[in-house]
Amino acid sequence: TSSIERKPDWLKVKLATGDNYKELKNMMRSKTLHTVCEEAKCPNIHECWASGTATFMILGDICTRACRFCAVKTGLPTELDLQEPERVAEAAEGMRLRHVVVTSVARDDLKDGGASIFAETIRAIRRRLPLAGVEVLIPDFQGDEESLRIVLDAKPDILNHNMETVERLSDKVRAKAKYARSLELLQRSKTIAPSIPTKSSIMLGVGEEWSEILKTMDDLRAVDCNIMTIGQYLQPSLQHLPVSQYYTPEQFSELKQEGLKRGFSHVESGPLVRSSYHAHEQVQSAQHS
Ligand code: SF4
Ligand code: SF4
Repeated sequence: TSSIERKPDWLKVKLATGDNYKELKNMMRSKTLHTVCEEAKCPNIHECWASGTATFMILGDICTRACRFCAVKTGLPTELDLQEPERVAEAAEGMRLRHVVVTSVARDDLKDGGASIFAETIRAIRRRLPLAGVEVLIPDFQGDEESLRIVLDAKPDILNHNMETVERLSDKVRAKAKYARSLELLQRSKTIAPSIPTKSSIMLGVGEEWSEILKTMDDLRAVDCNIMTIGQYLQPSLQHLPVSQYYTPEQFSELKQEGLKRGFSHVESGPLVRSSYHAHEQVQSAQHS
């Protein structure tokens, strides 16, 4: 049987069908924008959009990498769309967002990996929604420090970069990414812009051991990462990596306690938690810590 068939009850959520939701969906279409909320069929979309959080995916919807857990298409991306930052900002304004998350596919074909478009997007959102929190969830820019600096110069409220999994499974799960390089990015962010909180996420259920999860927390704290999110991996299709295990809500709570003990200012840990889930609360706790 496939892992999709034996999904436990706590992973089943109601589909979002409200008018407000449909209206927002139409606006995304008309502006030719992509949200992770929609593309990844995120189970939290109704709650997030209603509470003023959404995650935009910039730089196109075709990725130069092919991570084994990810539903995004792989291929050679299209040209760079220089109007995209302004359209994202317009949509965020139209949705009256309180917390805007901006992420992208990995654009290894671009010299700065798309960093300047990230920076433009942060600035465009600030102009239209000066009170909203802006979080960027960035790729590793192949380890390029200058690209990271370009993003940080635009002063996001949170710099997020995902570890995705534990060290041992990194090469298998994340195409072309490296565990050490991701940690280095988070560390550099603190050196370049110490006041910007950093954040990272892992998904569980790709074959990791409990002790390896705790080790990942220790590694993140060692580079002074402030916020961690932990969620359950769900297989997007049968071609993707199978789910090794469904963790219970109790196990997720235990991990939250382990994280808080280690000094993260905020830990979101639960079966349906995604990197941007309750992102608004995360910023507040990071700023108050
Ligand atoms: Fe969108 Fe993130 Fe919320 Fe999912 S958790 S709906 S991806 S903002
Ligand atoms: Fe998906 Fe990101 Fe991996 Fe591209 S780099 S395949 S968007 S997880």
